[in-house]
Amino acid sequence: MKSLVSLVRCASYASPGLDRALAEAIEAAGGLEVRGASVLVKPNLLNANGPERAVSTQPEMVAAMVRWLLAAGADRVLVGDSPAFQPQDLVGRKSGVKEAAEATGALWADCSTGVEVENPEGSLVKRFTLAQAMVESDLLVNMPRLKTHQLMYFSGAIKNLFGLVPGLQKSAFHLRFPGRPEFASMLADLCLAAAPDFCVMDGIVAMEGPGPNNGKPRRLDLLLASKDPLALDATACRVVGYEPLSIPYISELVARGPSPGPVRSSWIGALSDIELRGLALEEARVKDFVLVPLLRETDFFKGKLPSSIHRVLKGLMVPRPLFDHHRCVRCGACVRICPAKALEYSPGPRPRVEIDYEACLRCYCCHEVCPEDAIKLVRRLS
Ligand code: SF4
Ligand code: SF4
Repeated sequence: MKSLVSLVRCASYASPGLDRALAEAIEAAGGLEVRGASVLVKPNLLNANGPERAVSTQPEMVAAMVRWLLAAGADRVLVGDSPAFQPQDLVGRKSGVKEAAEATGALWADCSTGVEVENPEGSLVKRFTLAQAMVESDLLVNMPRLKTHQLMYFSGAIKNLFGLVPGLQKSAFHLRFPGRPEFASMLADLCLAAAPDFCVMDGIVAMEGPGPNNGKPRRLDLLLASKDPLALDATACRVVGYEPLSIPYISELVARGPSPGPVRSSWIGALSDIELRGLALEEARVKDFVLVPLLRETDFFKGKLPSSIHRVLKGLMVPRPLFDHHRCVRCGACVRICPAKALEYSPGPRPRVEIDYEACLRCYCCHEVCPEDAIKLVRRLS
């Protein structure tokens, strides 16, 4: 069966144009029945940055979604996400999402409390702890911003679900699944467990370059919507110039075949099963979007080379964090979030962050949370 993905032009976050474009995108993607339901809207609330940085989902987008849901008869609309290391309220306030949600009639849902969810169809993860607010809602509306991502290359509907894992528990997943393929497989399992009912992607202003935190805002003037998170992400990848199967979690889900039942949402088993509505791909495509370069997987050599040589090869080929001590304001965010405990302050009158490259997993959580762009990802061999 084909999955519908809508691509709609929208040049501004101002209403009523945004509301019209959003309604058009939802309708073209097959519509959404919400009468009498409690709905959790899950934006991307990465960290305490203002909307001008394009890090979190734009507050006006969230407000327009809440208006649409209430007008369509939803009984209760909640908005929430669990940032990795900062309090949700702080990130909600700084991003403008909390105020926008509450002003539109939504409840601000605390997503820091998790409950266990069985995931019998998962291949690596059979049980997740996910935000209680999501588990107790009838419907999940997933609202990512279209962004690049250092570890997964691309961050859209599926990667956004990682925010449903409460706070610093995310770090444990990086430790448990340190390589790209394993992390992608975990995300595929998470897609099963969270099973979003509908996804709307904020591509009016996307993020290009070294996302998901330190990239540059890039106008695309696009809204994308679908009931199918995989079809949506694959389409967004094509818009910005990634071959979808080069994104680890997309190739993992496609390799697994169509979504097994019963789950709340479903996804395609082949990329040819996507039916576009609204703009044609050629009209939406952006030719010079700055992507995170794809890397040759060093894990390809694992088991084929002695482990000491594989370790050296990985150290040379996979970018590693390099700290700019002049930019660093010693906020400690990277030290706190590092799942491998590879970072610490060096003693002395001017403490600075030191890294143990042997212990570093190359998960890039430090780069993702650094508020000062003081961490560059540098390859020793290119
Ligand atoms: S130093 Fe950075 S990239 Fe390395 S393990 Fe820690 S958080 Fe991950
Ligand atoms: S490198 Fe960035 S995140 Fe780490 S302490 Fe310095 S400013 Fe904070």
